[in-house]
Amino acid sequence: MLSVVPTPITVRVPAKVNLHLSVGDSRQDGYHELVTVFQALSLTDEVTVRSSDEPGIEVRGEGSDDVPLDSDNLAWRAVTELARASGRDPDDTGVRVSINKGIPVAGGMAGGSADAAATLFALNALWKLELGRDELADIAGRLGSDVPFALQGGTALGTGRGERLVPVLARHTYHWVIALHGEGLGTPEVYGELDRLRRNSDNRVGEVEPVLEALASGDPRELALLLGNDLQAAAVSLRPVLRRTLRAGVDAGALAGIVSGSGPTCAFLCTDGEDAVRIAAELSGAGVCRTVRVAQGPVAGARLVEEHSDR
Ligand code: ATP
Repeated sequence: MLSVVPTPITVRVPAKVNLHLSVGDSRQDGYHELVTVFQALSLTDEVTVRSSDEPGIEVRGEGSDDVPLDSDNLAWRAVTELARASGRDPDDTGVRVSINKGIPVAGGMAGGSADAAATLFALNALWKLELGRDELADIAGRLGSDVPFALQGGTALGTGRGERLVPVLARHTYHWVIALHGEGLGTPEVYGELDRLRRNSDNRVGEVEPVLEALASGDPRELALLLGNDLQAAAVSLRPVLRRTLRAGVDAGALAGIVSGSGPTCAFLCTDGEDAVRIAAELSGAGVCRTVRVAQGPVAGARLVEEHSDR
């Protein structure tokens, strides 16, 4: 009998920046209660899933040497979790996952979470599961706090560990310059440093409502005044060069700069696209980061790519 091998499925998935990240005290389960506003940016990974006699993971692109190729890879955890949820044997999925990284690794932009979201989305199609967005989001939430947002994209308010999402109206395309650093920062390490710093001084970002109002107004200048991240002081404490990076971006003309999530990536909000290109050029010559990217947000969450580049 002729067996039909399903066509590989490729999904593009965005990085995130936190426009607002308020970190509560650490909970019994070790997590911190968060109030955050995510925005999905046009820095993306592409994830292809296919049926294969050689199951496993392969990774190429920026920073791929630092990405695990075993069950520690969040994309592989997505494969086994979805297999379990759909009654398949998680140890015999017959799936090969190819990741093309465009999102900086360990950069505070949730690249691993993005790959997990893309893998869920792609396998849903490959295995013809027909799970809706809500069902996928439930599974995504079990994989990690940032995974549901990578599925959803756009701009969203996140609470809990960041996994409970409500879409936010954002009336504007915002233009960003992203400054990348060579060595990543571990998220648990940054939270640990925050807990340590808070024993001496307890500066916290303000309320989230003004941020939501600024997003609704669509004025980047208004939003720039309200960007805030409770993890920033901890990231700067662990990596003091970030203070110089943040200053250099603002000196180059950015409206404001912020450490993205747990860092060390810094994100600079710019007036418009032209300004972003100019600021990126200036920042890349300032010797305060490894490289820079220009990005826009919000963009859509995980979505199918029609043309295969790597078949
Ligand atoms: P967080 O989501 O905690 O903010 P991050 O954005 O700082 O994380 P990631 O790029 O997700 O950083 O990587 C964090 C660590 O997760 C890496 O050091 C890497 O070892 C591991 N990892 C697991 N799976 C992946 C993946 N698919 N892509 C990148 N890193 C991964």
